[in-house]
Amino acid sequence: MSSAAAETEKPPGKPLGPIPENFEAQDGELAIGGKTATQLVEEAGGTPLFVYSRDIIAGTMRHLREAMPERLHINYAIKANSHPEVLAFMADLVEGYDIASGGELEKIQAAGIDTRRVSFAGPGKRDRELEAAIEAGVTLNLESEGEARRALEIAERLGQTPRLAIRVNPDFDMKGSGMKMGGGAKPFGIDAERVPALGSEIIAAGGEWRGLHIYTGSQALSAEAIIETQANVLALADKIASEMGEALPKLNMGGGFGIPYFHGDEPLDIEAIGSALEERFGDLPETLADAHLCIELGRYLVGLAGVYLCRIVDRKVSHGETFLVTDGGLHHQLAASGNFGTVVRRNYPAAIATRFDAPPVEVQHVVGCLCTPLDRLSDKAFLPRADVGDIVAIFCAGAYGASASPAEFLGQGPAREVLV
Ligand SMILES: *Cc1c(COP(=O)(O)O)cnc(C)c1O
Repeated sequence: MSSAAAETEKPPGKPLGPIPENFEAQDGELAIGGKTATQLVEEAGGTPLFVYSRDIIAGTMRHLREAMPERLHINYAIKANSHPEVLAFMADLVEGYDIASGGELEKIQAAGIDTRRVSFAGPGKRDRELEAAIEAGVTLNLESEGEARRALEIAERLGQTPRLAIRVNPDFDMKGSGMKMGGGAKPFGIDAERVPALGSEIIAAGGEWRGLHIYTGSQALSAEAIIETQANVLALADKIASEMGEALPKLNMGGGFGIPYFHGDEPLDIEAIGSALEERFGDLPETLADAHLCIELGRYLVGLAGVYLCRIVDRKVSHGETFLVTDGGLHHQLAASGNFGTVVRRNYPAAIATRFDAPPVEVQHVVGCLCTPLDRLSDKAFLPRADVGDIVAIFCAGAYGASASPAEFLGQGPAREVLV
């Protein structure tokens, strides 16, 4: 075989996603925040363990601020990761927080965060959630006319001025996004053509008018698609504000910034998005000239900063294939197992943390400890030879890991979590 052919030869097994930058080997092991996987696990008291890195989150924020126009505010959508220390750490890094339930409001309050920085979107808000939010001065992103009227009634009963914005269901969605949240019939937001009337009703009823929220999708890796969507969002906001005859106080432009999870995924070109926005902000219509403009990001801010560590408890062979059975699984890493909104299961980036600088030599399945075939963390992964006692790392675990997995399934319980 020629050396050129050897170079292009595909490694055996199924490809793993790209290991994010900033992870290094120390004493042959994966290290995070200057500590090896073994040290981190010992200090935390065992596996499974989520490790979140302050340095990586802060680095992501710095890079993002450099790329985006100064005028743009950045909010953190806490459903990605609502660990109390992560919430508190974000306080100096972002302007606002976006929540989607009364339970998340309680987490914000417990973390000691000023609730006037918070907006609350999400369908099906219960009266007690509306009440708690209004009392705390949270901005409600209203999802229907019915919800708007309930909020106004509750506020009147409480003798408070509610801070109200409308979530718009736009007539477009974000091309290429992993999860579409706008366009056509949706449970989210109010159809764009009905928004001006409701906005005027809110103002007439004495609510504090907080403008619009337009969210169109998630996990987009195409800067072009995001740029086009942001242009559509600004145009729609202008149209609604013009119909209302009111300048907009605030516009939440949505987010959707994705991270590379899978083989072949390329990081999002945020410089391209930033310079396109800079240009648009230089030429805003009058209705938006003084508006508070923000985006809301979840996984982009924290996803790459997290690693999930679990320990191999068994190594077994079945029909010639090797299985590394760990003490972790889909009850902490539903998305990595391919069971959280994915059509085709693909491998997240993974490594043997205790042999981080060893070359891959063997195709091995990494599975969890749940008694279901769904519980697979890496399928046919080409990895260093690993054995009982070794620690497996699954990357991209900072978002939608602990917060979006069924920890109580099979009585397993939650993983440990640390911010380092
Ligand atoms: C889920 C969600 C987000 C965060 O999504 P990411 O893909 O993690 O950035 C932001 N805003 C709203 C309204 C959401 O529902």
